[in-house]
Amino acid sequence: MAGRRPCVAVVGGGIGGLATAIGLRRRGVDAVVYEQSRAVAPQGAGIAVGANGHRMLRELGVARRLQDSAVAPLRADFRHWSTGRRMVVHALSGAYEERFKAPFWTVERSAVQQALLAELGPEHVRLGARCAAVEDTGHGAVIRFADGTEAEADAVVGADGIHSAVRDSVFGPEAAVFSGTSGYRALIPMERLAHLPELAEPVLWLWLGPGRHFIAYPVAGGRALNFLAVVPDRDWLIESWSTQGETSELLAAFDGWHPFVTAVLAACERPSRWALYDREPQRTWSRGRVTLLGDAAHAMLPHHGQGANQALEDAVVLAHVLGGATPRTVTEALRAYEQIRRPRTRLLQAGSRKNAGCFQLPDGPEAQARNERLAALPDDLAWIHGHDALGLLGPASASAPV
Ligand code: FAD
Repeated sequence: MAGRRPCVAVVGGGIGGLATAIGLRRRGVDAVVYEQSRAVAPQGAGIAVGANGHRMLRELGVARRLQDSAVAPLRADFRHWSTGRRMVVHALSGAYEERFKAPFWTVERSAVQQALLAELGPEHVRLGARCAAVEDTGHGAVIRFADGTEAEADAVVGADGIHSAVRDSVFGPEAAVFSGTSGYRALIPMERLAHLPELAEPVLWLWLGPGRHFIAYPVAGGRALNFLAVVPDRDWLIESWSTQGETSELLAAFDGWHPFVTAVLAACERPSRWALYDREPQRTWSRGRVTLLGDAAHAMLPHHGQGANQALEDAVVLAHVLGGATPRTVTEALRAYEQIRRPRTRLLQAGSRKNAGCFQLPDGPEAQARNERLAALPDDLAWIHGHDALGLLGPASASAPV
């Protein structure tokens, strides 16, 4: 037994869970993903992959699989909500890539998930496996599934999203925090937007206005536009990725906004509506042989665009730390992982909350001061996008041994 590498069970086949299993298998660790859905079907709209996330995709051998579907926007263009006045613009290609040593990508969430699945190999994913509880037995960890079956491993990773069953089982239930806002999302085929000259070039648009903001960027190799429209919403409490909203609600919420914004909204057939929740930072992620990862560990609002990026960073760090462990040292490895990852994700949880208010200021001196601060954005965000999660592990861990 001594010297044997641990076998790891990962609960959740989202971006974090699949990335973890790839990272572990690349380091010779036997890892299996247990996913509740019966199929890994395309779900969700677009996500942004910053240089920090891109580095992780490269480390996992997955970036090359996304070359055709990802878009590298030329710039981030911040606009005034009604006049369309450009408030600030920052290059996202060229200077960004040179500074942070990797590109900024916009891509469909489902494309990233499919690329991860293809890299992992579907034979390492058990579908229709809904985790109900997890138990540390002292010499291993057992997952109990909703259908009454069980699986045992040396370590269990809960990568099962914001409503994590693993977290509830190990740490007890705790309610997620509702932000009082909802995000409407959709992917619109570009041909439906051909009348908008602004879309001739790939750009990340950020339109900031009183009580609302609107973000749009191309995905799917430029064949579709993704938008996220964030509005106040005290009553809407359904936290689901598949709930439908109405275009008419959106147009009413953005009445008076610039014609570019309303033209994009009008072209959307049926947006999904997503009540925005996060969680308070958790004091510890691991108990014995069970740990948490991605949204299960540190659910954050989408206002830094870092949810998927942080799950990827977690995955690569955990794989490196656990990849060198023996079954007997699993507990120590999990503790080391969370000590590396918790401080950073905690700052991002807080920063994402802060950005929401800052994006939605009414016209006036506060908005003016915000716009002046936006000029320094590349420097202010360097700690996020310039971060190399592997750098903290030292030179010995900088590349996978297999
Ligand atoms: P998630 O991506 O949430 O993945 C969690 C996985 O765990 C899911 O596959 C889920 O089915 C599975 N799971 C949950 N409970 C159990 C259980 N009890 N047993 C087994 N498996 C379980 N972010 C965006 O920025 N834009 C989007 O458009 C967007 N769309 C999304 C659509 C869906 C369907 C989901 C699940 C998430 C979406 N996200 C989106 C969130 C984004 O993917 C995450 O914030 C980020 O990638 C962190 O990922 P994660 O792996 O921690 O969690």
